[in-house]
Amino acid sequence: TYRAKTSGRNQVQYYSHDFHQQMQYRHRIESDLKTALVEQQFSLYYQPQVDAKTYRLVGIEALIRWHHPELGMIPPDEFIPIAEESDVINRLGRWVLTTACQQFSQWLQLPHASELIFSIAANLSARQLKDAGLVQHLTECMQRYQVPAERLELELTESCLESSLDALDMLQQLSEIGVNLALDDFGTGYSSLSYLKKFPFNILKIDKLFVQHSEEHEQANLLHAICSFAHSLGYETVAEGIETEAQRDMCSALGIKRLQGYYFARPMPADELQAQWLTHGR
Ligand code: C2E
Ligand code: CA
Ligand code: CA
Ligand code: CA
Repeated sequence: TYRAKTSGRNQVQYYSHDFHQQMQYRHRIESDLKTALVEQQFSLYYQPQVDAKTYRLVGIEALIRWHHPELGMIPPDEFIPIAEESDVINRLGRWVLTTACQQFSQWLQLPHASELIFSIAANLSARQLKDAGLVQHLTECMQRYQVPAERLELELTESCLESSLDALDMLQQLSEIGVNLALDDFGTGYSSLSYLKKFPFNILKIDKLFVQHSEEHEQANLLHAICSFAHSLGYETVAEGIETEAQRDMCSALGIKRLQGYYFARPMPADELQAQWLTHGR
């Protein structure tokens, strides 16, 4: 098989060293991506985030899935980077925002749900910050589905910090309409920390790399340092990739506000999340 596999560090590893086959696969993805939206092959999965003290549901991250008619489920790490090379990412990204708002508004109408779910987070590609109509699209989504801006979170990785002044301008516009901005995979990028404060992020999402090896002494120190840094600068923190009780307890003890990971729940389709997390008063 020449399908790529995602490793624990979010890097793509190829089973085969056949470069030609890899290129063929890539071209296939590239061309199939163009029609996949119209043919409704995408869906969003949703992963709960819980309060680090009470373990109650306080947020949800929307994660895209591609159900390819012939290749089966293709993970986002395989097709998002390809979509990012063209304007496909803008259409895809807008679809994600629309769908997440639509779903969230349905959940907000469930009895007790609006007290329960605090926020919904969607991932945004750096390239989308160059989509001049993004703010308007988002504003329209929020109005149409009656989703308050303060319940919306946009997750961006550090790659958006390297890009142009346009990116900063767009982030400021997004911040001005009241949505929360989270810096995803925090700690894995190389941008300088002083630089960070120029950007209107209010949430740092600590990468799973730091959580998952936190049983090791050195890594635990790193996690500790990252948390002190984040909290002393006034950021709210979210930890992802929590798979064990020990990791959960470590993150809670460090004052991280929200926790997300397989230990609590995997990303799942909307109906499953609703049945498991929104109907029994959890
Ligand atoms: P991410 O934003 O850092 O998302 C976290 C990834 O970690 C998700 O992988 C999630 O399923 C996985 N994960 C959650 N809990 C655990 C855990 O306890 N252990 C481990 N090992 N993994 C866990 P997924 O869904 O395959 O997404 C991969 C990446 O694809 C995302 O990383 C994000 O960068 C990108 N992505 C996903 N959906 C979208 C989207 O709608 N738009 C954009 N631009 N990118 C997306
Ligand atoms: Ca994310
Ligand atoms: Ca992440
Ligand atoms: Ca990632």
